[in-house]
Amino acid sequence: MNMILLGPPGAGKGTQAQRIVRSEGIVQLSTGDMLRAAIAAGSDIGRKAEAVMAEGKLVSDDIVVGIVAERFTMPDCANGFLLDGFPRTQAQAEALDEVLADAGLKIDFVVQIEVDEAQLIGRIGGRFSCPNCGAAYHDKFNRPEVDGVCDSCGGTEFTRRPDDTAEAMTVRLDAYNTETAPLLPYYKARGALVTVDGMAEIDDVTRQIMAVI
Ligand code: ADP
Ligand code: ADP
Ligand code: ZN
Repeated sequence: MNMILLGPPGAGKGTQAQRIVRSEGIVQLSTGDMLRAAIAAGSDIGRKAEAVMAEGKLVSDDIVVGIVAERFTMPDCANGFLLDGFPRTQAQAEALDEVLADAGLKIDFVVQIEVDEAQLIGRIGGRFSCPNCGAAYHDKFNRPEVDGVCDSCGGTEFTRRPDDTAEAMTVRLDAYNTETAPLLPYYKARGALVTVDGMAEIDDVTRQIMAVI
């Protein structure tokens, strides 16, 4: 099964992606995570993406299409993959169609996670994660069971993203509304789109997604 998670920044894409891939035995392909890994590694792509991401702008289509196209043909994706945060522009969606067709693959579901703008700002403002295992947390909505200790790996250091600021958030929401939201009718027209209520609790959103895939 191959699927796309579509939604604004802070909608819960990463949180839900981790749960779905675990239960379905597929691979999570998060372009945001891949770009952050490239920055950490100091690669060419990382150097090109770093300032753009910090401002909340979109990285160029060429770069993200390149990293996805390289990744989904790897053997660990044979069982399927979940795209988290890609595509984000019409050009990326069209490029994805092309590389999938070349590989004889298709997208089975596009799941839209719908969340109010006010809630998004609250979610992003409180977001932190475990750099060791990638588990996602929130100051109010999703705290670790033991304060300061990661539920999944026992790690005790957490990080916050440099683009989870009020300024970058405004730019990111704007990029979503102008560049990414137009993909909803694009996928709806081919009957691949399902919408879930992302305002619900984390477990409930997972149940809604599992019910449709
Ligand atoms: P995205 O990948 O779409 O940017 P995340 O999965 O990182 O979003 O979620 C953003 C923040 O909101 C995280 O701190 C996460 O713990 C929290 N969160 C995710 N889903 C929910 C939910 N349904 N209700 C409340 N908080 C949530
Ligand atoms: P979120 O959904 O919480 O905004 P991501 O981790 O998906 O965060 O993305 C973080 C940043 O990485 C984006 O603001 C953008 O700069 C860059 N990025 C990620 N995916 C893409 C993409 N498909 N196209 C362009 N830029 C991207
Ligand atoms: Zn951890």
